[in-house]
Amino acid sequence: MDVAVIVRLLGAAAGPGRWVMDERDDVGIAVARQLRDQAGGGVVTAIAVGGGGLELRRALALGADRAVMVEGGGDDAGAVAASVLGGRAEVVVAVVEWTDAAPARRAERLAERLGRPLVSFASSVGVDGSSMVAVRPADDGIGDVEVRCPRPVVVTVTAAAAAVPTLTYAALKSSREAVVERLVSPDTASRPVVNDQGAPLRRRELVHDDGQAHRRILERLREVSGGHRPCAVQVGRRVDPVPERALAGARIIVAAGRGLDDTGFATTQELARLIGAALAGTGPTVDAALLPASRLVGQSGTTVAPAVYLAVGVSGAGQHLAGLSGAGLIMAVNHDPAAPIMAAADLAVAGDAQAVLSHLVQAVTSIRHSP
Ligand SMILES: Cc1cc2nc3c(=O)[nH]c(=O)nc-3n(C[C@H](O)[C@H](O)[C@H](O)COP(=O)(O)OP(=O)(O)OC[C@H]3O[C@@H](n4cnc5c(N)ncnc54)[C@H](O)[C@@H]3O)c2cc1C
Repeated sequence: MDVAVIVRLLGAAAGPGRWVMDERDDVGIAVARQLRDQAGGGVVTAIAVGGGGLELRRALALGADRAVMVEGGGDDAGAVAASVLGGRAEVVVAVVEWTDAAPARRAERLAERLGRPLVSFASSVGVDGSSMVAVRPADDGIGDVEVRCPRPVVVTVTAAAAAVPTLTYAALKSSREAVVERLVSPDTASRPVVNDQGAPLRRRELVHDDGQAHRRILERLREVSGGHRPCAVQVGRRVDPVPERALAGARIIVAAGRGLDDTGFATTQELARLIGAALAGTGPTVDAALLPASRLVGQSGTTVAPAVYLAVGVSGAGQHLAGLSGAGLIMAVNHDPAAPIMAAADLAVAGDAQAVLSHLVQAVTSIRHSP
């Protein structure tokens, strides 16, 4: 089975006139190899658009069989589809992170042009007969589902989708001899299929909890579950919640602050488990040993980049907000509408943390149990 991987070339990081392959795309190569091997063989082609060319040798050193640099046609994925793939690759892989709006949209455009389904934000992928199987976020944003999609298909994967093989000096050295093919793309006169701007995430909103605010949280969660073109056959089964998800690469993070008592903290843990979120904490929750230091978000801890950050009983001190620069949608629950986190949040819920959390857990439990 032939697999194509779209890789990105970064200019600025390498200095004037130099380009490097985005290291995040190493995952894409690993996923492509995995799919090819599961299918019993085939060709993995790494494709980049624009840029220099030699940088694609990294992809060859990581195990791609072929590297193609497409020149012209901008970075329009449609050009890649039309001129390079020609419909041969059964699976086209692109790597995305949650806040990566542009590459995600390019994959949508590519799928649109090829007339193929798109499975987006897959955290695991595999081959089963003539289908591709994957785990992706449920459409309602709550946890993950298994999908089965007939090939050919386009898939965007997150960093969780494969372990990246170590890049050895020997592999890099031998890839220096390898040929990077060049291909001049025909002028595809960019035909926008999907609006590049995407939906604006920042929609500031203050809601006073009247017993229903949890519904608004669930609605906003659903909005960021990631667009995808449905498969002709999509059989979804909710994947069991993972007990402890790492902060790195998490799609959703729920942060617990000092405003939570013991019951509130336990309910937050339960919510995180149910929605497939990673649990994070503030300085005081870590100081109180409720969470390990590895879960601290902020200036003295980790900077995170989830699609959704839900802060509960967190004031939003500057040292904490410093760790949220990469977050997509920020939601907060605090009984003080004037707390700094409420001004930083896209959805600020003014209300008692325990009440909102209990309603959320009840609602999510019934969604998870619905067919
Ligand atoms: C050098 C230095 C580095 C630091 N680094 C970090 C860091 O990396 N990360 C970090 O997080 N902190 C860091 N801190 C600590 C930081 O200054 C704050 O003290 C901390 O972030 C506050 O944590 P908190 O929001 O959980 O608690 P608090 O500030 O006490 O806030 C608790 C919030 O809960 C709300 N609340 C109370 N009861 C309820 C209820 N029933 N329902 C709803 N809301 C309720 C309150 O209104 C309040 O806003 C650092 C401090 C220093 C000095």
